[in-house]
Amino acid sequence: MTDIIEFETVTKSFGALTVLDRFDFRVRQGEKVTLIGPSGSGKSTVLRILMTLEPFEGGNIRIAGQSYHMPDGKGPFRATQAHLFNIRKHVGMLFQQFNLFPHMTVLRNITEAPVSVLGLSKAEARERAMDLLAMVGLSDKATFYPNQLSGGQQQRVAIARALAMRPKVLLFDEPTSALDPELVGEVLNVIRKLAEEHDLTMIMVTHEMRFAREISDRVCFFDKGRIVEEGPPDQLLVRPSHPRTAAFLAAVL
Ligand code: ADP
Ligand code: MG
Repeated sequence: MTDIIEFETVTKSFGALTVLDRFDFRVRQGEKVTLIGPSGSGKSTVLRILMTLEPFEGGNIRIAGQSYHMPDGKGPFRATQAHLFNIRKHVGMLFQQFNLFPHMTVLRNITEAPVSVLGLSKAEARERAMDLLAMVGLSDKATFYPNQLSGGQQQRVAIARALAMRPKVLLFDEPTSALDPELVGEVLNVIRKLAEEHDLTMIMVTHEMRFAREISDRVCFFDKGRIVEEGPPDQLLVRPSHPRTAAFLAAVL
């Protein structure tokens, strides 16, 4: 298997705060990786940089064969239009706060990018959207607006919207953290279904340790912008070898 994502000595600061310092990270195509770690350790920053929502100052990132790097000494890297286009095509991201377009119906939310970015006809996009709504169990909500749905339903629409682009990589940043406890299961069930897709690469930040153990090929424990320890879930989540991993797990489990 080839690496679909590579971070090579990536440096990222917010003002005086260095969040990532020569950070290395690789993900193979089809791999399901979970990032865990204390709040503020840099997990969201890694996903946001991948999604080109944050510039970075040093190093290289390669996604699906395309390289992003610093123009030598010319200040922070910012994605060009071509980069953004490539990312939108290959990488989808799910956020804690669903981020659906509030003024669009569920159907429009899902068809918008396939039509405007991929150039699908409205009919093709609609057909794709209806298939995805069936997959997430929301066929009857196509004409609803986001504020007419529960949080769990909104997050399932957000997943359908991301999948409508047929991404190679899906990023999940605490996709169930904003949900009432009784709605967490329905969203995890949809993500579990996706995890069965061999070719889809998934990187997830979550505090749902039992779920992480079930679906991950690899779990990475983050602390202060570094991967302190990584390994298969049955090893890292059950018999961690680093004391900081053990302390974190003792606090959250
Ligand atoms: P995590 O997702 O692991 O909780 P983050 O990646 O969100 O951590 O944040 C890492 C560090 O960067 C934290 O100290 C956070 O306060 C800081 N940070 C994140 N985003 C910004 C921002 N836009 N401006 C300033 N500091 C930020
Ligand atoms: Mg975060």
